[in-house]
Amino acid sequence: MATLIDDTVRVRPTDPALLPIHDKVMAGERLSREDGIALFESRDLLAIGALADAVNQRRNGDRVLFAANQHINPTNVCVLRKTCVFCSYARTPKEDGAYTLSLDEVFAEAENVRDMRVREFHIVGGLHPKLRLSYYEEMIRGLKERHPGVSIKALTAVEIAHLARIEKLSVEEVLRRLVAAGLDSMPGGGAEVFSKGVRRTIADRKLAAEEWLDVHRCAHRLGIFTNCTMLYGHVETSADRVEHILMLRELQDETGGFLTYIPLAYHPDNNELGRQLGREGTATTGFDDLKNLAVGRLLFDNVPHVKTHWIMNTIKVSQVALHFGVDDLEGTVVREKIYHEAGAHTPQGLRLEEVVGLIRGAGRRPVERDARYNVVREWP
Ligand code: SF4
Repeated sequence: MATLIDDTVRVRPTDPALLPIHDKVMAGERLSREDGIALFESRDLLAIGALADAVNQRRNGDRVLFAANQHINPTNVCVLRKTCVFCSYARTPKEDGAYTLSLDEVFAEAENVRDMRVREFHIVGGLHPKLRLSYYEEMIRGLKERHPGVSIKALTAVEIAHLARIEKLSVEEVLRRLVAAGLDSMPGGGAEVFSKGVRRTIADRKLAAEEWLDVHRCAHRLGIFTNCTMLYGHVETSADRVEHILMLRELQDETGGFLTYIPLAYHPDNNELGRQLGREGTATTGFDDLKNLAVGRLLFDNVPHVKTHWIMNTIKVSQVALHFGVDDLEGTVVREKIYHEAGAHTPQGLRLEEVVGLIRGAGRRPVERDARYNVVREWP
C-alpha cells in the first residue's frame, strides 16, 4: 500500500473528477476501478503526471534505474503467426524473413558486444513448433558459462506455457529446469490486455488471462521475479485497461513477485490489425504514452517500479516520462527487432553513456541495476 504523501504536488487538478483521486493519493489510499477509469478518461495530463511523480519520488527518490542489457530474439517462427493480428514480428516456418538462430549464432551475438559490459540478456521470441526445452536450456547454460556475470531474463509466460505443452510437462517443471540451467528472471510480455473480448479480437489463440497469471504465480512461488505489461493503444477501452491492471495488482498482493510494470505501446505497421483499423503509420500519441505510464504508477501501489520502453515510446517521450511517475528506463538493448518490424523509428540500441545522459538531462540520478534490481553503479 502507498504511504502518505506529505510533499506538495506541483500541479493541482483542473478536472473536477480528479480531485477525490488527488486526495486519496495524498492520503496513501488505494485507488479503485472507478478511479482508474476516471484517470484514463481525463485530459488533465499534467495533474495526473504530477501526482504520479509525487508517488514515485516518495517511493524511489530521484533515482532512475536502467540495465546495460542486450536483447536476443532466437526465432521469429511462431505457431500463433496467423492469430496474433497485432504482431509484425512472427513468421510461419516457410515465410519470407523466417529465421531461427543456432546456439552458436546466439553465442556469437552475445560475444560480439562483450566490450559493452552488458549485465542482462533479455531473451524472447516466437513459439517455434519444433524447438524443444533443451534448446533453451543449452542456450541459457552456454550464455552463463561464457558470461558468468550476466543475468538472464528469458521467455515470456506464453513461451513457457508453449514449452510445457510440447514437452508434456507442467509449467513448474519447465521453470525448474530453466532455473537449473541459469534462468534468473522472466519478462512480462504476452499479457496484452486480459479482457476476453479484446483477446478474441487481437490474439484469439493466445494464453488466456488466468493461464498467463498462473505461469507468473508459479514463477513467483519458485522465487523467480518477473515483470508485468499491458499492450495499449488498439481496440481496448479505459475499463479494459483498468481491469487488466487490477488483475495484475491482485496477483502482486498475493505473491509480491513483480518487479516492474511496463505499459507497451501498440505499433500498427506491417500487421493485420493495423490494416484492419486503417492505422498504419499512426502509432500511439505521446499524450497517451505518458498517461499510461503515470496511471500505471498511480494504480500499482504494490509494484516497486514503472518502466518506460524508449524503443516504443521514443527517447524524447521517455525522458519526459521520468517526471510522470517513471523510475526505470529500458537500457542499452543493442539490437531490437520486434518493435522495429512494427514501425518503431527509434534507434536499435543506445550506448550506456547515452542512457546516462538522457537521465541526467531530465535532472534525475542514473543508477545501473542488474536483473534483480540490485544496484551495480550509481552516478552523482
Ligand atoms: S505476439 Fe508472440 S505469440 Fe503472438 S504471433 Fe507474435 S511472436 Fe507469436
